[in-house]
Amino acid sequence: MGEPRIDTKPKGWDEVRPTTCYMCACRCGIKVYLKDGSVRYIEGNRDHPVNGGVLCGKGSAGIMQHYSPARLSAPLMRVGPRGSGEYREVSWEEALRTATMWLSGVRSSDPKKLAFFTGRDQSQALTSWWARQFGTPNYAAHGGFCSVNMAAAGLYTFGGSFWEFGEPDFEHARYFLLFGVAEDHASNPIKVGLGKLKQKGAKIVSINPVRSGYSAIADEWLGIRPGTDGLFVAALMHELLAAGRIDVESLKTHTNAGWLVIDNPGKPDDGLIARDRKGAPLCIDHGSGRPVAAFGTVTPRFSGTVKLKGVTARPAFELLARRFLADEYSPDAVAGRTGIEAATIRRIAAELAHAAFDDPPVIEQPWTDAWGRRHQAMVGRPVAMHAMRGISAHSNGFHTCRLIHLLQILLGTIDAPGGFRYMPPYPKHVPPPIKPYGQQHHVSPGQPLRGPHLGFPDDPADLLIDADGGPERIDKAFSWEAPLAAHGLMHMVISNAARRDPYGIEVLFLYMANMSWNSSMNIAGVIEQLTGRDEETGDYVIPKIIYSDAYFSEMVPYADLILPDTTYLERWDCISLLDRPISQADGPADSIRQPVVQPNRDVRPFQDVLLDLGARLGLEGMVDGVAEPAYPGGYADYMVNHERRPGIGPLAGWRGKDGSKSLTGEPNPDQLQRYIDNGCFWFEPFPPEARYFKHVNRAYLDLAEKAGFLTGREPVIFHLYSEPMQRFRLAAQGHGQVQPPEAHRQRVESFFDPLPFWYPPFEEATVEPREFPLYAVTQRPMAMYHSWGSQNAWLRQILGRNWLYVARQKAAELGIADGDWVHVTSRHGRITVQAKLMDGVNPDTVWTWNAIGKRAGTWNLAPGSPESKKGFLLNHLIAELLPQREGGYRYSNSDPVTGQAAWYDLRVKVERAEPQARTLPQYEALKPVKGVRSRPTIVRWGARTERHR
Ligand code: SF4
Repeated sequence: MGEPRIDTKPKGWDEVRPTTCYMCACRCGIKVYLKDGSVRYIEGNRDHPVNGGVLCGKGSAGIMQHYSPARLSAPLMRVGPRGSGEYREVSWEEALRTATMWLSGVRSSDPKKLAFFTGRDQSQALTSWWARQFGTPNYAAHGGFCSVNMAAAGLYTFGGSFWEFGEPDFEHARYFLLFGVAEDHASNPIKVGLGKLKQKGAKIVSINPVRSGYSAIADEWLGIRPGTDGLFVAALMHELLAAGRIDVESLKTHTNAGWLVIDNPGKPDDGLIARDRKGAPLCIDHGSGRPVAAFGTVTPRFSGTVKLKGVTARPAFELLARRFLADEYSPDAVAGRTGIEAATIRRIAAELAHAAFDDPPVIEQPWTDAWGRRHQAMVGRPVAMHAMRGISAHSNGFHTCRLIHLLQILLGTIDAPGGFRYMPPYPKHVPPPIKPYGQQHHVSPGQPLRGPHLGFPDDPADLLIDADGGPERIDKAFSWEAPLAAHGLMHMVISNAARRDPYGIEVLFLYMANMSWNSSMNIAGVIEQLTGRDEETGDYVIPKIIYSDAYFSEMVPYADLILPDTTYLERWDCISLLDRPISQADGPADSIRQPVVQPNRDVRPFQDVLLDLGARLGLEGMVDGVAEPAYPGGYADYMVNHERRPGIGPLAGWRGKDGSKSLTGEPNPDQLQRYIDNGCFWFEPFPPEARYFKHVNRAYLDLAEKAGFLTGREPVIFHLYSEPMQRFRLAAQGHGQVQPPEAHRQRVESFFDPLPFWYPPFEEATVEPREFPLYAVTQRPMAMYHSWGSQNAWLRQILGRNWLYVARQKAAELGIADGDWVHVTSRHGRITVQAKLMDGVNPDTVWTWNAIGKRAGTWNLAPGSPESKKGFLLNHLIAELLPQREGGYRYSNSDPVTGQAAWYDLRVKVERAEPQARTLPQYEALKPVKGVRSRPTIVRWGARTERHR
């Protein structure tokens, strides 16, 4: 007998299937290795345009997300009081019949009594369409509590924005400014880009109160005070303007710097743009000194005045220069408040100018501009910037974001080699020509809403308000409280509904949104609101709550009907150009998810459920001519066959009957297989001539109009001076048909300034600084994404609890040692937690990791798990309403322009406390709901896969 043979290289898998990661918002391409029908391994897809094969820790840990013990397993109907965790399992038929009954009653009587809001769902093209066909005005996703300031400020300024709307040109950048980034969201693409910058010796400057993550590898870290970034940026502009180090050529043609602004105080045209009879904006012709239509080939003056029918007008640039050359924005004036020395600000400004203008990179690629001029090459401005929630989650975030964009524009870096690059379908015209719908006459029982929920008002007449100026939407988006609320105010829905302000609702329908915990301010208040009863009837004030999620989160026990979702490896998905695509600056891209494993629980993909509900409700487009479901094959069927407009569907690749067309074309029955064969993505590069200066590039503009990215082929002109903002201000000054009620006038007049400016965050302005001397902010850990990551068996081992991080020198002043327990108190509440001392933090700031703390009993974690025992949230300290004003009205704790949740305005005091066994507050442990499987003592993976199905 021979020696027994040992296979030293056993094949560990049977099959490899491509799909798209959902462990954060980057949407990298992945390949999933399967053995005996179980997931064995995940690797990055090397061909994918987003990640080029790079897989981060979160992406690898998708295995444990998929096999999480916290997964829900069957539809549930509540039988005990809300929060009790008492449910009975029901069939899908009963669950869908119940939901249909609740929803059809609302639809046929008063559609606005449904509030449908989704968290970080990646199918907003579907969810928004569903809500529109239902007919409710009350729909939005989570953008209002995430980064709408960033999106709105960008779209009202240059028709794009950071994040999913564009990207830094890492290939050509030589200087990179990074402001307040959420490292869990801005993940692989930024990491890969930072690697490229490091390799070629570009300078990275991080502006962030905390030196963690990307700040830790920056060449220079500026530990700014929270909420003062706008001052820092304004001081940079002060220096650049004073030195004349600005891109005058691009300012002349790509912006409204030369447009004439009417100076007619007290009159209805004051501050508006002077226009000719055809509506074209006027400028002063540099040669003749006469007013002429501003057109790309005219050279406008940037200062001086003209008389137009007896009224003075002057270029917008002169107003801008006056503002930012004023002493209040000089480095010396802002240094104390920002915590950044004046000399540093001056040096950074000089470095920016040097990088942008001295020896710029040149791409030898001829191109033609929107006015027909041929350029022999693409000349770069290699200063790239990126910013996210740290900037936008303040009550001064909209104007701060605008300031950053003005800095980019002054340096000429927008879509120039080395600067910020748009990703299609951006840029859009400024502001995008889409208006929000939701006025009373847009809403009728049994009918679809007459247009999209979310849009870009450019006049008070576009607001969603009633005859008295009161809000029409439950979240008060697009009302005088938040006129440019382009993403809605999800953080106010429960609170407003519970107070019946502006009205009560009948059904609250939520998807993937942990609103009773880490996604809400004032957690105790929200729980009371979810369980509050009407004094007269004894019924819940929010009568019915439907919730869909894949996991047993803190929100689940407060729902009446639970529709269990699949994991991201068990369903079809569509990352569509109609929503937030994965486009690259060099061309449009989109992608799909395919089910790589089949669910072993009685769960259904939410998107299938939504289409099923739509068909049962008879929603237009979701039923065919004989009232049968229009998409009997569920979401996959919809992804292929739905057409938003003729030829335009959710997926842009392989369209046309034979798959030969891109972007537009008839549905292709073989489309999904073509995606799968290509690694589950589609990417089509632009011709080289169309890749830069897209806002004024003839080749790009023509192509964009044809593809439906733009509604016309006119250039995208940047609005340094925002006329829509001035229209709102004029209304507050008593002009026009639609004016704010008296109570809102002063606020609208103050904050609708057509030029950006800095003001202190509201909380700082309302609390006594000596009582609450410290700023308190959160950071997102790179290894986790919202509350999902901190229940993942592998990721929990990286970070199982959080601490309150305090600057060493501040801790010494407060008598706090490393590991001490401390009380952290705000105007709203108090938490008791453990402190850790560190050096890399602004001395007036304390911080912690967000969304680590869990409520005991949830996510199927063991009793006494570190997340519930030692973890905590700052959310307990943050009020959802600002203090009461004279007259009793309380505004939401949000930006006054967009309604963006002002998470980072928080001010606290920190005092040493007695040692505790657990962080405080602790809430009563929630009981696991039915169907959540018994928890293994140790969650293992690898040895015996069959156990983990
Ligand atoms: S960066 Fe995000 S999408 Fe990409 S692999 Fe990591 S978790 Fe997945």
